[in-house]
Amino acid sequence: MSYQVLARKYRPKTFQELVGQEHVVRAISNALEQQRLHHAYLFTGTRGVGKTTLARILAKSLNCETGITANPCGVCSACGEIDKGRFVDLLEVDAASNTKVDQMRDLLENAQYAPTVGRFKVFIIDEVHMLSTSSFNAMLKTLEEPPAHVKFILATTDPQKMPVTVLSRCLQFNLRQMPAASITQHLHAVLGKENIRAENVALQLLARAASGSMRDALSLLDQAIAYGGGAVHEAEVRAMLGAIDQSYLFTLLDALARQDGPTLLAVSQSMEERSLSFDSALADLAQLLHQIALMQSIPEAIPEDLPERPQLAGLATQFSAEDVQLYYQIALLGRRDLGLAPDEYAGFTMCLLRMLAFAPGEASVKPTTSPAPKEALAPKRPAVAAPESTPSPAEDFSKKLQVIQQAVAEARATEPATPTFDGNWRGLVDSLKLGGMARMLAQNCELAEFDGHRMRLVVPQNQKHLLDNTTQEKLRATLKERFGKQLHIQIETAGSAANTPAQQMSREKAVRQAQAESSISNDQFVRDLIDGFGATIIPSSIKPIQ
Ligand SMILES: [Zn+2]
Repeated sequence: MSYQVLARKYRPKTFQELVGQEHVVRAISNALEQQRLHHAYLFTGTRGVGKTTLARILAKSLNCETGITANPCGVCSACGEIDKGRFVDLLEVDAASNTKVDQMRDLLENAQYAPTVGRFKVFIIDEVHMLSTSSFNAMLKTLEEPPAHVKFILATTDPQKMPVTVLSRCLQFNLRQMPAASITQHLHAVLGKENIRAENVALQLLARAASGSMRDALSLLDQAIAYGGGAVHEAEVRAMLGAIDQSYLFTLLDALARQDGPTLLAVSQSMEERSLSFDSALADLAQLLHQIALMQSIPEAIPEDLPERPQLAGLATQFSAEDVQLYYQIALLGRRDLGLAPDEYAGFTMCLLRMLAFAPGEASVKPTTSPAPKEALAPKRPAVAAPESTPSPAEDFSKKLQVIQQAVAEARATEPATPTFDGNWRGLVDSLKLGGMARMLAQNCELAEFDGHRMRLVVPQNQKHLLDNTTQEKLRATLKERFGKQLHIQIETAGSAANTPAQQMSREKAVRQAQAESSISNDQFVRDLIDGFGATIIPSSIKPIQ
């Protein structure tokens, strides 16, 4: 039985199944019901939000044998063929690979002929902004005097790169990034249908890592199922995503509340040693601060069953509302500037130190009393003139900074040197600060060649969907950060790649599973149960001890 990736298996086939794009669906459905048809539609939005899925459903709406409809029947031959991707009057083009003007001209010449079987000849052009100027000009001619039987459905992540002349002839719809909560909900539904158990936090992590793309979320879920041997656990998902164990962040926030600088640095160091991604750490920190702020003002917004609720409640009483706002802001800015920092460790610790420097002194007001307005983004100072024995606020601040700078210098001095690469790609991938899709891509690459200047990576054919530009760029940038900007990286696909970390891990998992199953079936007690009581073993219920 061949395994179908979830993104394909659960690709929506009707407007109703499309998650998170209700505003677009409503507008299109109304137009279809009132038979107000346009020649050209343009769907914009970031990757994986459902642009081409929507385009195909619209193609069915236009060609369904029951008539032009917002609810294509899904069973007539037009609907069926479109679902299978072999409807003769639907031409799907990826502009990223068909930018040449003569190909575009061929395509548009084809538009002059009447449809073979359908009502309309539908052209879906994905990543349309990639077309060359001359291709756009060729297209414009057809758009200016479109034959009545032709419909264009264009999709792009970057409408700014399209000529205004083309834009103005399209009915434009902007698809939203999907909120993490909707993604989590959808993943739950999919797993329900697949009969796969999952921990809620694990799905929340996957949804967050997918940053608004349902396709990415489902690809990550595929991977998580493979790692988890049929179940989706939080610990495995964290390991897979290179995500931060939240206990680190709670320790950091505790230390911040206690004004404990050394602990802040010690925790950061230990995160650095474990090669955790500081970018994800700042994102997670901002997320936690947001939850703390909610806990302070609208506690009922935090679900009762959230595992970290008690910790959030504790922290909510330790910080004032203004502190939380300020820390949140610092975390966001720190994340934005992480690329400019000398390295991620420095960027991250500077962020924490900034929080520490702006943290309340003894004169601070706790949230239980009415919070007095504080000067945002300025070191806090006592409301009354300080007694002579205590340093002035300015002195106090510069002293604090000195201590901080010295501590950072000491921490840097004890850092291990940059590790040299011994050719162990899997080990390297584990140590790289990659998250989400980029990590998944790295785990699905085989190192074919490396000589210090040139690196050639091979991705198996069946994983080539991972090779989108954004993901590749992230991986390339991270590798260059490790080996230097001069590194030439070549990533290609080949059917023969069979030694990627992902494949290795799944082979190891299979071996452990087989061992577990054989030790269970050889167990005398189990044998007695089978022989004496006619018991049977359900193989999927056996899990190797981790
Ligand atoms: Zn139909």
